[in-house]
Amino acid sequence: MTPLERALRERIAAEGPITVETFMEACNAYYYATRDPFGTAGDFTTAPEISQMFGEMIGAALADCWSRAGSPPEAAYAELGPGRGTLATDALRVMRSAGFAGAVHLVETSPILREAQEAVPGARWHESIDDLPGRPLLLVANEFLDALPINQFVNGTERRITVAAGGLAFDRDGETVELSPAREQAVRAVANHLVKHGGAALFIDYGHLRSGRGDTLQAVRGHRFAPVLADPGEQDLTSHVDFEVVERTALEAGAAVTPLTKQGEWLKRLGIDARAAALSRSNPERVDAVQAALHRLTARDAMGELFKVIGIHSPDWPGPAGFA
Ligand code: SAH
Repeated sequence: MTPLERALRERIAAEGPITVETFMEACNAYYYATRDPFGTAGDFTTAPEISQMFGEMIGAALADCWSRAGSPPEAAYAELGPGRGTLATDALRVMRSAGFAGAVHLVETSPILREAQEAVPGARWHESIDDLPGRPLLLVANEFLDALPINQFVNGTERRITVAAGGLAFDRDGETVELSPAREQAVRAVANHLVKHGGAALFIDYGHLRSGRGDTLQAVRGHRFAPVLADPGEQDLTSHVDFEVVERTALEAGAAVTPLTKQGEWLKRLGIDARAAALSRSNPERVDAVQAALHRLTARDAMGELFKVIGIHSPDWPGPAGFA
C-alpha cells in the first residue's frame, strides 16, 4: 500500500467517503512533489519534451502578439506548471531574439520541478496565479489544467471514493458529468489579470470543444493507462479539459478569446512545417527524428486533434496568431 493510500484510508475511516476532487488533488500534489515524471524513463511525454519546435512556435506566437501590442517593455513571460522548463527555454529563446527583454515568472508548486526549472534563465517562482506581478503577461499553460482536480456527478449525486472489499472503490457508477471549480478558478484568475493589466495567454491541453457527458478521469503510469484508484500518488491522474467552460469563464471575466482550435491546425498556421524543414536542412542526421516529432505534434492519429488550444487576451490587446 502506498503511503498516500494509507493516509486516504484513515481519512475515509474517520470522515466517510471522499469526493473525486479531494482524491485527485491529494494524489497529484503527492505525485508531482515527489518526482520528475516526464520522458521515456518516466510516466508520460508532453509536447515540449517531444521537440523544441513546440516551444518555439509558442514563443513566436507570444512575441508576435507582444510586438503588435506595441512592444510594451514592462510585459513579462509567465507560465503555469512549467514541468522541466523546456517549453519556457525554447519559447524565450525565440522571444529574446525578437527583442523581448521582460522578466520570467513561473507558477509551480512542486519543489522537485522548481529545481529542474532553474535551467530557465532569470526565472522567479510563485505558488499561485494570484501572486503574479501586476503587469502585462505573455502567459502559457501546457497540460496544466488537466492536472487540476474535477468533481464527478452520477445521476445528480456527487461520486465519492470509499473503502470496499479491502480496496478503494467508487460509491456509484453510471452516466457521469464532470465539473472543475479548480480549473474555472485558474482560468478566471488569468482572465482577470489580463483584463486589469493587459497581455495574452495560451492554454493547450487535451479535451473537448463542447461540454458533454462521460467519465474522462484517467491514470497514466510508465506510458500506459492504469486503473484510476490503483496506487494513489504513484501515477498521473488527469481528465479531459472542457474548453467550452474555459471559453465561457474567460468571457465572463471580460476577456477576449480566440476561436477554439486543434493543436495540429494551430501549429501548422504558425509555420511548424517551415521550421521542421529548416531544422532538417541544418541537421541532416536528424531528418527522421524531426519528421517523427512533427507527426506526433500535428497528426490526427497523434496529438494534432485530441489537443486543443485557446487564446485569452485583454480586449485592449491583439489576439494571438494561429487561430482560424
Ligand atoms: N507544462 C509542462 C508540464 C505539464 S505537467 C509540460 O508541458 O511538459 C503539470 C505541471 O503542473 C507540473 O509542472 C506540475 O508540478 C504542475 N502543477 C500541478 N498542479 C499544480 C498547481 N496546483 N499549481 C501549480 N502547478 C501545478
